[in-house]
Amino acid sequence: MQYDVVVIGSGPGGYVGAIRCAQLGLKTAVVEKYKTYGGTCLNVGCIPSKALLDSSEHFHNAAHTFTTHGINLKDLKVDMKQMIARKDDVVAQNTAGITYLFKKNKIDAYEGVGSFEDKNTILVTKADGSTEKLTTKNVIIATGSKPTALPFLPVDKKRIITSTEALNLKEVPKTMVVIGGGVIGLELGSVYARLGTKVTVVEFAPAIIGTMDAGLGKELQRVLKKSLGMEFLTNHKVTGASVKGKVVTVTADNAKGEAVSLQADYCIVAVGRTAYSEGLGLDKIGITVEERGKKIPVNEHLETAVKGVYAIGDVITGAMLAHKAEDEGIYVAEVIAGQKPHINYNLIPGVVYTWPEVASVGQTEEQLKAAGVKYKAGSFPFKASGRAKASMDTDGFVKVLADEKTDEILGVHMIGPRAADMIAEAVVAMEFRASAEDVARICHAHPTYTEALKEAALAATENRAIHI
Ligand code: FAD
Repeated sequence: MQYDVVVIGSGPGGYVGAIRCAQLGLKTAVVEKYKTYGGTCLNVGCIPSKALLDSSEHFHNAAHTFTTHGINLKDLKVDMKQMIARKDDVVAQNTAGITYLFKKNKIDAYEGVGSFEDKNTILVTKADGSTEKLTTKNVIIATGSKPTALPFLPVDKKRIITSTEALNLKEVPKTMVVIGGGVIGLELGSVYARLGTKVTVVEFAPAIIGTMDAGLGKELQRVLKKSLGMEFLTNHKVTGASVKGKVVTVTADNAKGEAVSLQADYCIVAVGRTAYSEGLGLDKIGITVEERGKKIPVNEHLETAVKGVYAIGDVITGAMLAHKAEDEGIYVAEVIAGQKPHINYNLIPGVVYTWPEVASVGQTEEQLKAAGVKYKAGSFPFKASGRAKASMDTDGFVKVLADEKTDEILGVHMIGPRAADMIAEAVVAMEFRASAEDVARICHAHPTYTEALKEAALAATENRAIHI
């Protein structure tokens, strides 16, 4: 079969890129090794984790805040089987949606492992060992990533688990150790902490969510400890983990180099993800992956060293996020169609779906200081927001960073209720190079959480916040 584009991998990068190719009139095929489409994000990432975050948040609120709202419930308990079944149903609805979209856009989908015979021939190896050859003018590699394995941490997938298994536990553990205080570890850790598990997070760095603006990690750690009883061992280097019966023992060295030992029912290893560039036969077409991280090198048009072969999403450099992969899918489709698209990598928002949520876009204070940029900072706490008081979500703040002279917004960092949705306003403002004053002068509906962004922008302008 002859195609204009063959996409290998059907995650958010691959399926979105394929749809855009088809919209642009390119004859397109997708090769996916799994039975369902949607990749990590839809099957074992963004979507199932958010489904469990929502369920566990309902339980936590019912158990801890409903009485204050004047709602009394009796005999509250978690039905783990049903919670997981609902999550599976949410995943099924989403993955079925991709099957529908492929049909609607006349995209041919092949089930099997895709690999290069040469730069214009993709071999599809099916589960039964049979093969099929697709010839194509262009290839988009969108094979994503897999959980990073540490040589001294044997993941048995039963007690020492990755995020994938953590989305399918059959019981609420009494105790859990999460190795890694990044986004995935904190989201899954808070799912179980909300259901009643005593969760301890062990983090090598001095702070959790260490790549985000420092104020966010500090506030998140404080709130998760206060509201969910989560414990944090920062500055701890994990040295090993072992399983005996139903007990996991995790060992670590603290900042003084002293050995610490923790025991738990389960241990989630969430120390990052590694590009999945194996088995593609890249050597056959002259592509060498990076030594560290196994990422596929690409130029500014996301084209590899081989003309007509592109790579996008988690398998290349940059933030390992679904929306970054999607934007790159659209970008490459448009490049192949001869257009001149653009991605602003400075404006890819980062979100942590804990409660309170954490969201960020642009430069952090630490980055601005390191670059010697003179900036103004304005903050507004949710405890001064009428909307947040009404919903009892008064933890957190919004911080706006603006250029000292021009007032252009350089970064927005927030932790608080619905921050994941609120960050979109900051992204739009920054895409149009708004000043803090511009945002401060835009009318925001009252009472909404978004007023906190307006107030932080007012604070950054001339310290003019009204409600603090
Ligand atoms: P993937 O989604 O990994 O898809 C790659 C696909 O390629 C897979 O289906 C794989 O089977 C297939 N494949 C690989 N090799 C081959 C081959 N040789 N032949 C055929 N098929 C192949 N990101 C967010 O933005 N927001 C979130 O809330 C979020 N939550 C997450 C929660 C968890 C628990 C995890 C693990 C990740 C989360 N992510 C989130 C990250 C997000 O899932 C990834 O950034 C995103 O899926 C990357 O998309 P992709 O298209 O590059 O690759």
